[in-house]
Amino acid sequence: MKWSQNVSLSGYNTLACPSSAQYLAECYTLSDLRETFAFARANKLRVTVLGGGSNVIMPVQMSGIVLLNRLPGVAFKPLPDGQVLLQAGAGEVWDNLVRLSVQRGLRGIENLILIPGRVGAAPIQNIGAYGAELSDTLLSVEIYDPASDDCRTLSLADCQLGYRDSIFKTAVGREWVITGITLTLSPNRPLVLEYADLRQRWEQEEGAQNHPQAVARVVERLRRAKLPDPADIPNAGSFFKNPVVDHDVVAQLRLGYPELVAYPVLASDPALASDPPIQTPPERLKWKLAAGWLIDKAGWKGRMDNGVGCHERQALVLVNPGHRPADEVLAFATRLQADVKARFGVDLEPEPVLLGETETK
Ligand SMILES: Cc1cc2nc3c(=O)[nH]c(=O)nc-3n(C[C@H](O)[C@H](O)[C@H](O)COP(=O)(O)OP(=O)(O)OC[C@H]3O[C@@H](n4cnc5c(N)ncnc54)[C@H](O)[C@@H]3O)c2cc1C
Repeated sequence: MKWSQNVSLSGYNTLACPSSAQYLAECYTLSDLRETFAFARANKLRVTVLGGGSNVIMPVQMSGIVLLNRLPGVAFKPLPDGQVLLQAGAGEVWDNLVRLSVQRGLRGIENLILIPGRVGAAPIQNIGAYGAELSDTLLSVEIYDPASDDCRTLSLADCQLGYRDSIFKTAVGREWVITGITLTLSPNRPLVLEYADLRQRWEQEEGAQNHPQAVARVVERLRRAKLPDPADIPNAGSFFKNPVVDHDVVAQLRLGYPELVAYPVLASDPALASDPPIQTPPERLKWKLAAGWLIDKAGWKGRMDNGVGCHERQALVLVNPGHRPADEVLAFATRLQADVKARFGVDLEPEPVLLGETETK
């Protein structure tokens, strides 16, 4: 356990918003967590849990305690049926977990290579990329509940994972600290190659090798070409979620924009769950719009205002090369959202968590 006081958090958020913490507690064990929350209770301080800081917008002053979750541990446990359980502590680096898995020839998370951040944050927004999501392999999540001082294991169903969503974003779940996760990986589940770019390059560059390492290599190259590295240009990845809208919204938009980028998704209606989208009546479909396309079409790609802007290659990524504070980043985002709403009638919802009152334990 390492305590510091009045610490700059500039190096602890990839968006590089200037910020400082009253207290910073680096926790390596469960007893470190307990000690931190006991201190917080005794001194009536708020606690904000942080992993890699790659999906947050930090205010200038973080009052109370910022708890860096660094709980370690990685274990691969073979099951009699050939599958392998991967147990990992919340403080492990997510990308390392992916690399260790693909090196062993295990499948399930290879498409999620190079997503920044720590293991403990992965279930919070059900991280996803290139056709795969954490929910495809997640078996359970271990939590510490500061209110009861207890630890519990949540099943996949308990976690209520959805598109960039989970129980950990609700009023109840926000109170918990994730201490570890367990995934089920397999040496022989099918590779996920439904993204056209990914499949094409896997065939061309990797000779269609039926190995998770080949897929991971392609995803890594695609991501490095498309996404700015926060070490070079501060950013928090996709700044907006892809909006999910009803069929009539898409139909209306297509009148003005026949080239609109939209993908059918299965609506929450369980009756649709087993149908391939093609067999579902169009009016019952929900559609995911490409937020990047809307932003690009509205003319914001590459635009820069006072050190905050929209990346020139990836409109969905807001960048902060000027290391501007959170309120300026948010002001830029608000102007962009208002313009997209005025042009297309569609609301864009930010993906990173705005740290403040509600994100504290
Ligand atoms: C360049 C770039 C690319 C990205 N690409 C993707 C992508 O392809 N797909 C994707 O889904 N995301 C992507 N992201 C977003 C981000 O990497 C993920 O959301 C990641 O899981 C965040 O991990 P973190 O440890 O940095 O979380 P943080 O930013 O530290 O925290 C995020 C939230 O989780 C909470 N939290 C963190 N750890 C815990 C814990 N142990 N217990 C309870 N609460 C906790 C925090 O309080 C905060 O509310 C990208 C980000 C960047 C910068």
